[in-house]
Amino acid sequence: MGEGGAKEGQSRGGRTADAARAGRALVPPLVRDRAGSRGNAAVAALADIWRRLDAREQLSGAIDLLLPRACVSCERLLSRLDTGIVCGLCWSRLAYLPSPRCERCGHPISSGSCRWCELLPPFVRAVRSVCWMPVEPASSIVHALKYEGWAAVATEMAERMSRLAWPPDVVDERAALVPIPLASARKRQRGYNQSALIASGLGLRWRIPVWEDVVVRSRETSSQTRLTPEQRLDNVAGSFRAGDRQLERLRSAHVVIVDDVVTTAATLNACAKVLYESGARIISYVTFGRAHASGDRL
Ligand SMILES: [Zn+2]
Ligand SMILES: [Zn+2]
Repeated sequence: MGEGGAKEGQSRGGRTADAARAGRALVPPLVRDRAGSRGNAAVAALADIWRRLDAREQLSGAIDLLLPRACVSCERLLSRLDTGIVCGLCWSRLAYLPSPRCERCGHPISSGSCRWCELLPPFVRAVRSVCWMPVEPASSIVHALKYEGWAAVATEMAERMSRLAWPPDVVDERAALVPIPLASARKRQRGYNQSALIASGLGLRWRIPVWEDVVVRSRETSSQTRLTPEQRLDNVAGSFRAGDRQLERLRSAHVVIVDDVVTTAATLNACAKVLYESGARIISYVTFGRAHASGDRL
């Protein structure tokens, strides 16, 4: 233990004294109300235990009621070292995209040429993603955000996405983030747009605004999971349109579209096309997960 342990002991003692004072303010009236004149010994004993807890323990007890006690990805119990609702072990096991990667699209490459870039329209400057999908634990993390209502996961994903390395011109020029919009029925059902939550976390870290109203979803596309790349293009064609207002902001801007996962880039490309036709000059993409393409090194 040594000196650090002694200091910790002192500080805990100080907090205990503060907590005891706070406890005396809060608990005895409660105890008196509950116990009445009979002086219920069990309630008094509980109050005594509460007084002995330090402030941090009281606070964490209250927060435990609001947050899950288990990692939303692997379901192991969270420890006090875990700052979010996905555990440190899960974050350490992410299958990060390996190097070397294409400077433009960020896809791992083994030779000089990049096939993944062929998916992208010419006005797309750069694409970056954190990890492979669908690979655990990334799949469970995205599932928790999209289908289990754990909106707070978006902040933790945004933190990892904010550390991605970009070409210097993208960092200099990026004016705003544009989350892939959801159709209103899907948004009502989920309660939030997961891409917008990620974008707001990224915007705080990159210190740029989020423009949610420059593009809207004109219709929800059916699930793309089982479609070929050609079918995906047909599926998303016409699914986005320019927003009704704030479009002048787009003029000559370099904007970064945000989505949770990229597979064939069909959805991102369809959204980018609308932004480009509305005046954006350059567009980049950022996603948390990226699906393998045929021929990838694994
Ligand atoms: Zn976990
Ligand atoms: Zn490339």
